[in-house]
Amino acid sequence: MKVAIVAERVGGQVKETVGIENLISVPETTGSELADNLKTHLLRYPVDLLEHRKIEKVELVGKEKQVTTSVGEKLTTPALIIATGASWRKLNVPGETEYIGRGVAFCSHCDGPFYVGKHVAVVGGGNSGIEAAIDLASICSRVTVFEFMDELKADQVLQEKLRSLSNVEVFVSSQTTEVIGNGDKLTALRVKDRKTEEERVIELDGVFVQIGLTANSGVFRDLVETNRPGEIVIDAFCRTNVPGIYAAGDVSTVPYKQIIISMGEGAKAALSAFDDRVRGNI
Ligand SMILES: Cc1cc2nc3c(=O)[nH]c(=O)nc-3n(C[C@H](O)[C@H](O)[C@H](O)COP(=O)(O)OP(=O)(O)OC[C@H]3O[C@@H](n4cnc5c(N)ncnc54)[C@H](O)[C@@H]3O)c2cc1C
Repeated sequence: MKVAIVAERVGGQVKETVGIENLISVPETTGSELADNLKTHLLRYPVDLLEHRKIEKVELVGKEKQVTTSVGEKLTTPALIIATGASWRKLNVPGETEYIGRGVAFCSHCDGPFYVGKHVAVVGGGNSGIEAAIDLASICSRVTVFEFMDELKADQVLQEKLRSLSNVEVFVSSQTTEVIGNGDKLTALRVKDRKTEEERVIELDGVFVQIGLTANSGVFRDLVETNRPGEIVIDAFCRTNVPGIYAAGDVSTVPYKQIIISMGEGAKAALSAFDDRVRGNI
């Protein structure tokens, strides 16, 4: 089979990660090292790598899929694997972007181990925020939760578990307005009480922003079925509702958004495409 990859950049979210310690068989690596290794491995195969462009449009022409890129190329293919990932929703406050990976984190399973014994905040009181706070409370000295609304949105059972933990405190009606650092790493958060308008600065070692993840599926939403948060709906073979279009990793409905899951899903989608092609289904 002839294979081409269209990629805005090789590495994706991994490039935003400083330390990775949960990729089975690799005890410790960094985001840039892993991304470089992926690229080196990829280039050992006869794959056309079309980097630094985005897919802007996909149209169905009979059974074929016609892909238009941001530099005007048109690629026609019987099988398309969408692996455009997701973007964490950001707070969009001063200091946030500057301290990503240096105190500002988005994935508690991934980055939690870097904060053992430390004081962290979780911004967001939905299910993912409260789950993150519960996980972090078992390894951090103190966890402070800030929720923008007047009450937590997480399921009752999670809220009860959270309240049973002695090292967790929760503030509702709280708006995070600034990430403060010393140039090297985050040192504090500025938070405003939305009722009293009073602002205070809370010193901490890290903040986990848990206000949602958005699937990068916008370009494909008119083409394939997506769920309410915009994830592309797939079956156990990574097939979408359109024959010959597959989705893998964070852009899809696969549970657990992690590197090892995405790698496995990418392999699965490729095997499904191969299988469907050799069986004459696409
Ligand atoms: C700060 C941070 C730390 C993390 N730490 C860990 C960790 O330690 N361990 C772990 O297991 N997981 C971690 N994760 C999660 C992990 O990075 C993701 O689950 C994984 O990268 C998802 O891989 P993916 O290939 O599905 O998507 P992505 O990594 O999001 O890659 C998608 C790629 O598609 C490109 N793209 C998007 N739209 C288009 C388009 N229209 N055309 C062309 N290209 C497009 C993007 O630019 C990107 O390069 C972390 C995530 C973040 C943000």
